[in-house]
Amino acid sequence: MTAGVCCYALAQTATGSTRLTVVIDAGHGGIDGGVVGNVTKTKESDINLQIARKLQTQFEEAGFLVVQTRPSEAGLYGAATNGYKKRDMQRRAQIISQSIPSAVISVHQNFFSLSSRRGAQVFFRESNANSRTLACAIQTALNGMPECVRPSEALKGDYYILNCSDFPSVIVECGFLSNAEDEALLVTEVYQMRLAETICMGTLAYLATASSTEPPI
Ligand SMILES: [Zn+2]
Repeated sequence: MTAGVCCYALAQTATGSTRLTVVIDAGHGGIDGGVVGNVTKTKESDINLQIARKLQTQFEEAGFLVVQTRPSEAGLYGAATNGYKKRDMQRRAQIISQSIPSAVISVHQNFFSLSSRRGAQVFFRESNANSRTLACAIQTALNGMPECVRPSEALKGDYYILNCSDFPSVIVECGFLSNAEDEALLVTEVYQMRLAETICMGTLAYLATASSTEPPI
């Protein structure tokens, strides 16, 4: 797809509103809990959902229409039989393509063998300039949080959720559940709320730039 953000801005929703749409994608769910906190044993899928819900509040307060790919603890695969992961991902792709979003934000938590590794990392699709710009804007905002001990650059990633559509899509790995300090922050309501505010702020910065530089279509 080559359409710019102005095209998305003018897309009519089912209710006839011209609000911009953001898709929030809480990673994992159901029998797929993702990674698990070393200390608290909290499942990534639960933290992802908690942050996704806070992101919804932030974006709705900013006037956006929000679509959640996974609004509950349940996975999107139907029966938990062979091929469930593929069905789960395909359902997410379907929701994204139907939503005609201005941004897709997939929420995950990281895990690494080296427990000292910490901090938020945002991934983009290399072949999609809008994905990269959105990722850089969110990463810059996250780097500005007082809890950020080492600023990171946005990173290219070859992931299904980034490749399944041409809408500006990013994966936000909010922190490392393999690091005790990150985990202690990530399980709290307060830090989750601040992450949601920061991710929303970065997205708004991206959209402000995108809408002022893209020609009308
Ligand atoms: Zn994950």
